[in-house]
Amino acid sequence: MGQKVVLVTGGAGYIGSHTVLQLLLGGFKVVVMDNFNNASEIAMLRVRELAGEFGNNLSVHKVDLRDRAALEGIFASTRFDAVIHFAGLKAVGESVQKPLLYYNNNLVGTITLLEVMAAHGCKKLVFSSSATVYGWPKQVPCTEESPLSALNPYGRTKLAIEEICRDIYRADPGWKIILLRYFNPVGAHPSGYIGEDPHGIPNNLMPLVQQVAVGRRPALTVFGNDYNTVDGTGVRDYIHIVDLADGHVAALRKLDDPNIGCVVYNLGTGKGTSVLEMVKAFEKVSGKKIPLVMAGRRPGDAEIVYASTEKAERELNWKAKYGIEDMCRSLWNWVCKNPYGYPSEEYIPPSNANGEI
Ligand code: NAD
Ligand code: UDP
Repeated sequence: MGQKVVLVTGGAGYIGSHTVLQLLLGGFKVVVMDNFNNASEIAMLRVRELAGEFGNNLSVHKVDLRDRAALEGIFASTRFDAVIHFAGLKAVGESVQKPLLYYNNNLVGTITLLEVMAAHGCKKLVFSSSATVYGWPKQVPCTEESPLSALNPYGRTKLAIEEICRDIYRADPGWKIILLRYFNPVGAHPSGYIGEDPHGIPNNLMPLVQQVAVGRRPALTVFGNDYNTVDGTGVRDYIHIVDLADGHVAALRKLDDPNIGCVVYNLGTGKGTSVLEMVKAFEKVSGKKIPLVMAGRRPGDAEIVYASTEKAERELNWKAKYGIEDMCRSLWNWVCKNPYGYPSEEYIPPSNANGEI
């Protein structure tokens, strides 16, 4: 069997860049397609360097997913074994303010991709869905069979794309599709040379904690301390970004199963952690005090969300290895090395992917 070639849309972003590195190290050839609206080209240079001898198996196209002619060109020049589709806008608050931007980018982008894939006979897909499709879960852990609902336009794009995937599989069982519902990715590659570098004001807990730690913000606002949880703050399932990236490699391998069809897997740890527990873990590993301001609940926030991980463990043969202190340590390492994210000019990183400092 020859070397597998994978197209990764949104491969320069946070989850994409870590996944591309794991794919390269796993021996895959990777073509990234990203419009770089929420990513840095330096992330790709660093991934190439971190991949060492495998770095030459990466090529990168600066392309918007909705540019059908550009997609056609890429598919005409390369035969892809599969596509991992990360590209999308992901800020919940912004999706409420600008729903059409989200429907256009996420839905039109995905439909264009699926049409071009079908036209070129490439029918293997791994899609980035989200735990957001569980809405406010009535029961935890969330299993893949739990009821689905969307609380905002971002969530509705994820649900709609899941339904589109189920429909195209029903219409043409030649498709093999894995929908991965991620819980809350945190941290960075242990080298500290790639990590999360959100443009604009972050929405998620840990990027905000990281900005407080380096003095870019005076305090963390805690949204709600009257939930029915261990300390009153919201509970989520935080998963190390490297575990999440490895979950994609496992999913890609699963696409070789002839009976896969269109199937959903949760990627989480199965453990719930409160906001205050997460802050405490970060303070412990960083030695930094994170000042807190208690505030009311954030509209639309669920109380407790965590994953049932049994299906992924059983069928993907994948299980998260890292705990919250590992996540916080790797995050702090990335922050110390890159307090303002990726620099604006090229930087030569080390060539060793093991990279523990
Ligand atoms: P990210 O913003 O870092 O990465 C997304 C990438 O897609 C960016 O590099 C961006 O430039 C690119 N992109 C967006 N629209 C594009 C378009 N039209 N054409 C080409 N490129 C485009 O986000 P991430 O955290 O890496 O998330 C990746 C995927 O995982 C997203 O679909 C997101 O919704 C989903 N997801 C993320 C989380 C999370 O907490 N980070 C949780 C669940 C699901
Ligand atoms: N959170 C918080 N302050 C913030 C951002 C988030 O207290 O500035 C809380 C939020 O209410 C939730 C948890 O942190 O309980 C995780 O929020 P995040 O937005 O990272 O993930 P999501 O809610 O989408 O799972």
